[in-house]
Amino acid sequence: MSRSVLEGPVVGSEGVKVEQLVLENGRVTQRGDLGLKADHQWSQDCLLFPGFGDIHVHLREGQEYKEDFHTGSEAALNGGVTFCCDMPNNPTPPLDQDTFSAKVAKLPDHPVHIELYAALGPGTRPFGCRRYKGFLAHSTGPLYFESLLEAREVVKEYGGCRITFHCEDPVILEGAKGAPNHEESRPAQAEAEAVRHVLRWVEEFGIIANVAHLSTEAALREVYERTDVTFELTPHHLFFDVENRNRFERGKLLKMNPPLRRPSDRKALLKSLKEGRANFLATDHAPHTLEEKLSGSPPSGVPLLDTYGAFVTWLLKTEGVSPQIVHQVCCSGPAQFLELPDRGHLSPGARADVTVLNLARPHTVKREQLATKCGWSPFEGVTFPGSVEAVFVGGEKVR
Ligand SMILES: [Zn+2]
Repeated sequence: MSRSVLEGPVVGSEGVKVEQLVLENGRVTQRGDLGLKADHQWSQDCLLFPGFGDIHVHLREGQEYKEDFHTGSEAALNGGVTFCCDMPNNPTPPLDQDTFSAKVAKLPDHPVHIELYAALGPGTRPFGCRRYKGFLAHSTGPLYFESLLEAREVVKEYGGCRITFHCEDPVILEGAKGAPNHEESRPAQAEAEAVRHVLRWVEEFGIIANVAHLSTEAALREVYERTDVTFELTPHHLFFDVENRNRFERGKLLKMNPPLRRPSDRKALLKSLKEGRANFLATDHAPHTLEEKLSGSPPSGVPLLDTYGAFVTWLLKTEGVSPQIVHQVCCSGPAQFLELPDRGHLSPGARADVTVLNLARPHTVKREQLATKCGWSPFEGVTFPGSVEAVFVGGEKVR
């Protein structure tokens, strides 16, 4: 029997209220103004959230020199993330029942809960998996389409399925080949065009679509009036852009897909978040080694799990995003998306996963504090206005 009483400003979908939480045997059993003796108490500088959920991470199964389930999970805990969903672009992608089950069997016994995506790619068919990931253009891994028409022929078999799409039109990317830099070789219109196709497929085939790492104002315009599609925003597209990148220590390593965009795009994404339009803050945590990133042809992607919670304090304190919206995009939204009803909230019956942020204790990102195996962060040298103060998983204090 384990039991502890937490007290502090608890964030829920309705707002922030100083309350007590009783954690017993891995669950929240009571919540409210209980008048109990607290084991852990936090002041008004802190906020207690349900453990954060990141629905888009690459934990690199089969490429363990970059990351593995264990180091990735430790990086998640550093960021206050207690559940996540791993992408399928592995050397052997989970694309049917056998390959999917083989990947499930490799999941570790670790406090962080990991869900998996199955891959949707050329020649795949639905096999009863709860969610699929479709790469509409070449990025990292072997699964991608040559055109949106080719993708459409596969997607039409997935009626009723939940699919997250990497939205870039491969034909537009092909046409932009040879551009002077990575950003211009993956233009904004490639994203908007792919999003338009996905929205059509929602109507035509009855798929349940989520747009991964939405990065441009043009794509935002496509999804703005739609209630039948969700979208993710990433820390890197909200924080960095093609103009400010060089002010940062790791600015040269900020190559990812979709790429960094213009300041006006970044501001539009921040505005959509503040207005409560975005569905998920998802990192697209994509570890590659420093050696790879510093090479002549660096792979795309940056590692972001370690800094999830510290980045959220920047949203709250510097950008003025409300705690309720953070609750929506970091807690309740991800839990609903992954169909995990006992996560993403702290009502009695919920799992006793709590992430405490301290908005009065700034955090400067340093390499030696990172748990990701790749050992670097795009935020190195950045001072966030707050930090992750404590993390509880199943009622146990793990950070
Ligand atoms: Zn990704």
